[in-house]
Amino acid sequence: MTTIITGVAGFLGSHLAKELLAKGKHVVGVDNFSTGTQRNIEPLLAHPQFTFIQYDVSEPTVVDLPELQLATEIYHLASPASPKFYQATPFATIAVNTIGTRNMLELARRTNAKLLYTSTSEIYGDPELHPQPESYRGNVNTWGPRACYDEAKRLGEVYCYEYYRNYGVPVRVARIFNTYSDGLRNDDGRVISNFVTQAITGEDITVYGDGSQTRSFCYVSDNIRALQLMMEKEEAVGQVINVGNAREYPIIEVAHMVKILAESTSRITFHPLPADDPKVRRPVLDKAKELLGWEPEVSLEEGLRRTIAAYRDHLALQRQ
Ligand code: NAD
Ligand code: UDP
Repeated sequence: MTTIITGVAGFLGSHLAKELLAKGKHVVGVDNFSTGTQRNIEPLLAHPQFTFIQYDVSEPTVVDLPELQLATEIYHLASPASPKFYQATPFATIAVNTIGTRNMLELARRTNAKLLYTSTSEIYGDPELHPQPESYRGNVNTWGPRACYDEAKRLGEVYCYEYYRNYGVPVRVARIFNTYSDGLRNDDGRVISNFVTQAITGEDITVYGDGSQTRSFCYVSDNIRALQLMMEKEEAVGQVINVGNAREYPIIEVAHMVKILAESTSRITFHPLPADDPKVRRPVLDKAKELLGWEPEVSLEEGLRRTIAAYRDHLALQRQ
């Protein structure tokens, strides 16, 4: 019984590995450190049930790695997730979500393993339907800086669908909406890591555009619980399921909330809105509730309190 996690040195992968190891699973983590960090896996490396392999899952030879041949479950998380990083490495982003996903599906087919693929709310693009149920087909611009991520994730979903339909691989696809907590790199570029880092260091809090664009933020523990339920439950096989939090906030409100919770003296400043930045985003979570019996539990305020405290601790350690 071996659980494979690709992208294990990343934000979600490292949290997931910690949870699964605590439940007694044997975990093999694969990562090429393109956006992941040694710091994220440091606490896992000493665990007797954890094996780490530094490898690019877009390489076809990954399927033949001896450590992966006893796979019973594959969580395929490898992919940059922050716009800052996926736009800096568009071809690697396309590769890991298309060829990398196909490689992991081949491994699942060969080993009879279950596979969970982490897709994204970005496949809805700049949505014309609000909030977004799984049946919404999206509004993605193919000719823009987000396309390498959005369209690659869409093709990743197609690979999952075809391996399910043609070969009966028991796939499940989680469409993850903005998820946060500590473990996000300070330089990750995503909004919560930026705002929290800026607030606790006294730098300007950088709102892009006028801050009226909205997002719905899910705390990491809620996300990791949902991913595990998706892997466990038969009801999730062959399904695409939104995983997020249905409470929606304008970004300017998040900036004020972080500033107040961190008791920060930072100024809030306004900067150009990046191209194709979605104006709204909020998941419909009925399917997750019905199939998994899952609902998010941690409010943004509570999650931000925990995140601010953890970032403060890391900062204090770095300064020692
Ligand atoms: P992350 O950037 O922190 O972690 C991704 C990990 O994948 C990194 O450790 C990176 O080194 C690794 N990786 C990338 N390409 C690889 C390759 N070719 N071979 C091996 N390893 C590779 O991102 P995250 O926030 O942890 O996201 C994990 C997954 O969840 C991603 O697939 C992402 O698209 C998806 N997702 C995340 C969010 C979110 O809000 N965190 C939202 C939607 C979707
Ligand atoms: N954003 C911002 N300031 C920042 C980083 C991001 O105002 O320092 C905005 C960004 O323009 C977007 C939202 O916050 O509207 C979420 O951005 P993020 O990169 O976290 O994720 P996205 O949902 O865009 O993939």
